[in-house]
Amino acid sequence: MGKKERRTPQMAYVTLRDMPGTRVMFWVVDACPYCGERHLHVAGNLRTADPGETLGEVPAPCQPERPYILALPPRPKRKAGKEERRRARRVGKQDDWDEELG
Ligand SMILES: [Zn+2]
Repeated sequence: MGKKERRTPQMAYVTLRDMPGTRVMFWVVDACPYCGERHLHVAGNLRTADPGETLGEVPAPCQPERPYILALPPRPKRKAGKEERRRARRVGKQDDWDEELG
């Protein structure tokens, strides 16, 4: 306590892109927490194993003294599990799923 938070890293949510014509993948920060601009970070080569290994704290290109944390955004739940379907049915709000289920 009492310590000034000069270098608290902000979260920077990324999406994985590959560069057409190359085997290089990038983490794309759509909105930098510091400058609001887009930044790219090399995530690795398509042949190398796990781009997730390059996530984590990196220096922000716009402010080298202030790192940010590359992180995957929380995923929106699009696919509802069986529990959800059952609940939906009970509520009587039947979408298309029941046809799928037969
Ligand atoms: Zn920036």
